[in-house]
Amino acid sequence: MSNPALPSEKVHTQCCIVGGGPAGMMLGLLLARSGVQVVVLEKHADFFRDFRGDTIHPSTLELLYELGCLDEFLKVPHQPMSSLTVSINGKIVDGPDFSHLPTHCKFVAFTPQWHFLDFIARQGKRYPTFDLRMNAEAVGLIEQDGRIAGVKVDAADHEIEIHADLVVGADGRGSTVRQLAGMQVEDFGVPIDVLWFRLPKNANSPSGEPSFGYFKNGLMMILIDRGDYWQAAHIIPKGGLDELKSRGLEAFRQRIVDLVPIVKEAIPAVDDWDKVKLLSVQVNRLPQWSRPGLLCIGDCAHAMSPAGGIGVNIAIQDAVATANLFAEKLREEKLTDADLHLVQKRREWAIRWTQNVQLLLHRKLLNPAKIQKPGDDSLPLGPRLVGKIPFLRQLIARVVGIGFCPEHVRTSEYRPRA
Ligand SMILES: Cc1cc2nc3c(=O)[nH]c(=O)nc-3n(C[C@H](O)[C@H](O)[C@H](O)COP(=O)(O)OP(=O)(O)OC[C@H]3O[C@@H](n4cnc5c(N)ncnc54)[C@H](O)[C@@H]3O)c2cc1C
Repeated sequence: MSNPALPSEKVHTQCCIVGGGPAGMMLGLLLARSGVQVVVLEKHADFFRDFRGDTIHPSTLELLYELGCLDEFLKVPHQPMSSLTVSINGKIVDGPDFSHLPTHCKFVAFTPQWHFLDFIARQGKRYPTFDLRMNAEAVGLIEQDGRIAGVKVDAADHEIEIHADLVVGADGRGSTVRQLAGMQVEDFGVPIDVLWFRLPKNANSPSGEPSFGYFKNGLMMILIDRGDYWQAAHIIPKGGLDELKSRGLEAFRQRIVDLVPIVKEAIPAVDDWDKVKLLSVQVNRLPQWSRPGLLCIGDCAHAMSPAGGIGVNIAIQDAVATANLFAEKLREEKLTDADLHLVQKRREWAIRWTQNVQLLLHRKLLNPAKIQKPGDDSLPLGPRLVGKIPFLRQLIARVVGIGFCPEHVRTSEYRPRA
């Protein structure tokens, strides 16, 4: 809604990207590098958000290599993880082994995602056509002759009207752009939610793996080591928080310590339910990722579950595919609405496969009721097989670390003729 009391600004650009997450930032960087005028809108003042994935996968690291900035990125504080282990009923089981992947980095880099996004923003700012607007929230779409022709932006102290040849919705699972454009997702239903809380470490706290999965008596938790604290992600049945709350905070703390004994000294920090955030897990997909003037990518087009920790990677692959297909046409002002379906055509089969694997994992593994019965401390068949057969560990690493349809940077750095 326009507020006449606020100053307003009008901007014309070739591409306006709504959302400064992995998909939007990577697309902004690639387009600006190709000489496209691009505005990226991020509604928050910074990238510092707790519940972003911490995983930068081998295929994303490979893209940074292709962009010539891998060495610089590896100076950002991170923990390389070349294989993953999990604890099932106190028994350590080997998981994916990334050391055989055909990539320059044969590991997942664990780093809080704000480090990664800050890095991509710094890379983007090297190009004069990269215009990143923080604190800028898309609140409306501009429609002209039945097509999306721009975005209305609330930038706190002023309003912006951005007219663009192409608008990209990269504003995540709760997308405003998608809703304003009247696009509806097909939802696939997920039986789990995630409780997200911090556990401070002290001098005696063990440090080891950057991430570790714990399964015990039908319960599951992931601990991500973020230096002076662990980020904890406890999987619960969807809608199960109220029941946990009804049993009281002390019972919750005891449940966590039973599951992960090393956090015993840290658990008193969870002294209020306000410190336990409920993250709703979704898996869904837009039947059509575009309409005239508008393209949706990343979680906006297909929300990914945290299962496998692959959503960030997939969002980035969407961005690379979009830049490969459209950068030159955007720069030369030759992109037509008839082109917009090409991103979905290229990417959708890989997304379908990945989501199907995630849904299977939810049913078989992450659904707490199915992991194991209380009191049964035997290892389930799946982890037993994976632990014993190296090929399976490598296969899982390939799906997680590279994905079904890895994209490569096909665009080049634009050097305008003198
Ligand atoms: C609990 C949980 C844990 C997860 N853990 C992992 C993990 O470890 N590894 C992994 O790979 N994936 C993980 N995922 C999945 C991953 O977070 C997503 O798939 C990925 O973030 C999608 O990237 P994106 O750029 O499409 O969207 P997002 O990361 O959601 O980014 C969207 C951006 O748009 C901004 N925005 C929203 N609305 C507006 C607006 N109106 N105007 C301007 N800006 C706006 C938001 O502030 C945000 O910065 C997890 C998901 C969940 C739910």
